[in-house]
Amino acid sequence: MRENQKSVDAYKESVELMPGGVNSPVRAFKSVGMNPIYMDYGKGSKIYDIDGNEYIDYVLSWGPLILGHADDRVVTKLKEVAEKGTSFGAPTLLENELAQLVIDRVPSIEMVRMVNSGTEATMSALRLARGYTGKNKILKFEGNYHGHGDSLLIKAGSGVATLGLPDSPGVPESVAQHTITVPYNDIESVRYAFEQFGDDIAAVIVEPVSGNMGVVPPKDDFLQILRDITNQYQSLLIFDEVMTGFRVDYHCAQGYFEVTPDLTCLGKVIGGGLPVGAYGGKREIMECIAPVGDIYQAGTLSGNPLAMTAGLETLKAMDRSSYDDINTKVDRLIEGYRLAADKYNIPLQINRAGSMVGIFFANEPVINYETASKSNTEAFATYYRTMAEEGIFLPPSQFEGLFLSISHTDADIEKTIAAVEKAFQKLS
Ligand code: PMP
Repeated sequence: MRENQKSVDAYKESVELMPGGVNSPVRAFKSVGMNPIYMDYGKGSKIYDIDGNEYIDYVLSWGPLILGHADDRVVTKLKEVAEKGTSFGAPTLLENELAQLVIDRVPSIEMVRMVNSGTEATMSALRLARGYTGKNKILKFEGNYHGHGDSLLIKAGSGVATLGLPDSPGVPESVAQHTITVPYNDIESVRYAFEQFGDDIAAVIVEPVSGNMGVVPPKDDFLQILRDITNQYQSLLIFDEVMTGFRVDYHCAQGYFEVTPDLTCLGKVIGGGLPVGAYGGKREIMECIAPVGDIYQAGTLSGNPLAMTAGLETLKAMDRSSYDDINTKVDRLIEGYRLAADKYNIPLQINRAGSMVGIFFANEPVINYETASKSNTEAFATYYRTMAEEGIFLPPSQFEGLFLSISHTDADIEKTIAAVEKAFQKLS
């Protein structure tokens, strides 16, 4: 067993200080039955815990660190900028620079507003969609996560298209009733929902590749049909690219699938490991936001110089060939998983979009929340613990994807595949 006494002690202290000992629920490692691992530092593809153990990291802060940890270019620039002051509450040139880069790379974005998290981006985009269209309802997909804003923390009931039930105490039913939830990849349900409520649907919000029920890509023309239906009913189409943005492709998922939404939400990679979110879209819609328009949204630290710097350096370092490089490593990793699954007869489904990978212990293809839920979470937990023991740090849930960075080496991939073999052998 790897030494973990310091993490055990730290967790004992934390639970007295913070609910569940953590500042975000997934960090508690509950679904895999482990003590949380407390991190000390990271460099490239590796992280080191406070007990001195090394791990190859496939969590990458849940997606942002596409360059890997403590990239020299990012750290050097951050030091330089920090010396000049960390926040002004007045505009800086860095904001123009990142805004221009985002506008250049994201097909749908003509104007952008920076915020501080993915949650803020989606909440603000919904307000904008409602304010712009004068409509109230939102259509979202079961198993898609868009942060913890009230309108989006809604679960679907059974049935084709369900008016939302709150997913959490504290979300008023009066808010939830404006959210319609339908199964992902199910266009018939979307059509049905629009037939019922089309006049009052302000927007459809969708993860263009779903990353919050494990990784589930869209079916062939799912996104294009969403585009057509929203056009038909004069609703807005919002792509939540908080996870996919600048991760699955140089031009984000919308560039990859060649479908252009009205609004796009960004987070994670755009902040390079610092707290950043953004939403953007057509000029005509974006100019409804204060101070040009009367839809209000603001932020004391929005466009913060350190956050802009980490985002800028990260995006500048990711040229087109960087994506090809990561994808080649992902190809090899997936091949390793497939061979090991065949060798030990493990029912495994692998979904993938760029460097987002979903490994499901399941018998049938995973195309939505229902099929994802059939995964064997016990098998996942056993696999997870073996991988951790072998020095591979994965997202501690069957329903989260793993990520690669440009820092992952061929040797990292081979070591990971060897660990997968051990884990699958144990399971067989
Ligand atoms: N949207 C998506 C698609 C996400 O994956 C997440 C976070 N995992 C969010 C929104 C919320 O972002 P944040 O945690 O930065 O608030």
